[in-house]
Amino acid sequence: MATLEIKDLHVQVETESGPKPILNGVDLTIRSGETHAIMGPNGSGKSTLAYSIAGHPKYQVTSGSVSLDGEDLLEMTVDERARAGLFLAMQYPVEVPGVSVANFLRTAKTAIDGEAPKIRTWVKDVTTAMEKMQLDSSFVQRSVNEGFSGGEKKRAEIAQLELLNPKFAVLDETDSGLDIDALRVVSDGVNRFTGQGDRGVLLITHYTRILRYIKPDFVHVFVRGKVAEQGGPELAERLEAEGYDRYLRESAGA
Ligand code: ADP
Ligand code: MG
Ligand code: MG
Repeated sequence: MATLEIKDLHVQVETESGPKPILNGVDLTIRSGETHAIMGPNGSGKSTLAYSIAGHPKYQVTSGSVSLDGEDLLEMTVDERARAGLFLAMQYPVEVPGVSVANFLRTAKTAIDGEAPKIRTWVKDVTTAMEKMQLDSSFVQRSVNEGFSGGEKKRAEIAQLELLNPKFAVLDETDSGLDIDALRVVSDGVNRFTGQGDRGVLLITHYTRILRYIKPDFVHVFVRGKVAEQGGPELAERLEAEGYDRYLRESAGA
């Protein structure tokens, strides 16, 4: 069994007016086989948490720890994190002109496995992954994220997830920009991934909508850079009914 453990994580970004603290002591433990949903209002630091776990250079960890099976992730390069079993979606949402999706995926797979995948099976695997996500076969020839629609980006992300099959996946706003059919396709992909039984998912979302399709074992309410409350799936239903207001008031009064 594998464990991704975040302890008292504090993160800041450098801005023109100086460093700005965003995460204020995040505690979260995800074990293999568990799906955790993080829900919270806009600007609460959810993406910052994802970027910090992934190792985005813009986000400076000022204290706390992130470990995978006891190994310090924060000491690792982005490549090392991927090799350790962490999923880094096409996660810095940048365009990479001149690098095709096919090459990008192959490079990522090679970095993780330490050797290039066998060409014949790899091409077949990529084709299958694209078909499952209902992406056209010509899609892999396009430059990474260049002119991708919101839906294509998210579907490509899940195709990548299925191909790389990491131990843990951090999925940020996987549901944003998806119509109902695309949401189904994306959710089915995530469910195939978790269906293996020993994978861990941190599903970050603003809306409860996706949780009708992906059933979390745990729900965490994220407010002002930390977890304000944790519970089971019923917590998502309460959030749907009540919104985040109560948490925002409580945290403002604290
Ligand atoms: P969420 O994903 O929950 O909407 P974010 O993590 O994107 O929240 O942002 C949290 C806060 O940190 C916001 O106020 C946002 O403006 C700020 N922030 C995030 N990244 C940066 C950055 N690179 N530079 C300056 N401010 C940032
Ligand atoms: Mg499970
Ligand atoms: Mg975000």
